[in-house]
Amino acid sequence: MKPEDPRSEKLTCKLIDKLEKEHDLTEKEMSALLLDKDPETDRYLARKALEVRDRIYGRCVYLRGLIEFTNYCKNNCYYCGIRRDNGNAQRYRLEKEEILDCCRQGYALGFRTFVLQGGEDPYFTDDRIVSIVSGIKECFPDVAVTLSVGERKKESYQRFFDAGADRYLLRHETADPDHYRFLHPEEMDFDHRIRCLEDLRSIGYQVGCGMMVGSPGQKTEHLLRDLRLIQSFRPHMVGIGPFIPHKDTMYAGQEPGSVALTLRLLSIIRLMLPEVLLPATTALGTLDPRGREKGLMAGANVLMPNLSPSEVRGKYLLYDNKICTGDEAAECVRCLSFRVEKAGCKVVVSRGDHKRFQNESDE
Ligand code: SAH
Repeated sequence: MKPEDPRSEKLTCKLIDKLEKEHDLTEKEMSALLLDKDPETDRYLARKALEVRDRIYGRCVYLRGLIEFTNYCKNNCYYCGIRRDNGNAQRYRLEKEEILDCCRQGYALGFRTFVLQGGEDPYFTDDRIVSIVSGIKECFPDVAVTLSVGERKKESYQRFFDAGADRYLLRHETADPDHYRFLHPEEMDFDHRIRCLEDLRSIGYQVGCGMMVGSPGQKTEHLLRDLRLIQSFRPHMVGIGPFIPHKDTMYAGQEPGSVALTLRLLSIIRLMLPEVLLPATTALGTLDPRGREKGLMAGANVLMPNLSPSEVRGKYLLYDNKICTGDEAAECVRCLSFRVEKAGCKVVVSRGDHKRFQNESDE
């Protein structure tokens, strides 16, 4: 018989074992796990999360080439640096050919997923998005295209899907409707955001939701609701990162979110949804120089290096001190590959679909 691991005596370790086995905990148990201050809890949680990740995806880390193609936005989210009313933001948008150039460069560097992210920019009508997505698919039939362009009509999502878009990222931001109202102006609506997520999933996208950790006004009970939403919605991807203040918003001067709590949540989400694709985000790397490695060591398996042209990189500023705004794409890839190795993983060239979407094109 194997000797008992002494740590399994501890209550929080028992909770982690239960989470690993049943993929869920009661509200009270989850709260105890989130609030526990013992660093041993983090170590045990991360160890379990890594075991689960490695069992499912091996030590592969998937790269997504992020193309931030517009920072115009009609919304006014209180926390976001590219909100409509920020008169100090230097606005830009990329034309289709410029986006295709980014893809060409990215493809040569080994990227097989491109993520088109932007503010909600009315210039990019459905027709324009369709033309960009189908343009990318024509040039690079073996890549996955992920869109992250906010809330749209179901018909629009359907048109993008028919044009070849495979995945969609739309963070729910917070699963608590009151907290949602606190973070957003009145014209934005929590129920609408959730409806969008449901529309996306019913169309057949691989869908990502997620939240900021430590956003203004966030309480533990809000994070518990976030976890419950993730548990019931069962997204294919979950994007979480710490909140970081932006100087031109009303939250300038607020405390940023906690790196440690973000890492703990990454591990919890890995144990809740073992097959989930989980990025170690740029925001995590911004708050901690080793944040992305730490994310990978906590159960993340995706990195999203920036492929935007260097002239515009410094303008897509959702928060202060964003990293990698000066680097060329090739430099980013080199630097990230090094970090991935440090975290005991390897970068793979593949679309990196969710397990349930994998076919022979994915290795
Ligand atoms: N317009 C798109 C893309 C939004 S930007 C959409 O609505 O989905 C991508 C993500 O950045 C947001 O979903 C938000 O969670 C995050 N973000 C915005 N401001 C931030 C800040 N100050 N700190 C950390 N993350 C932020």
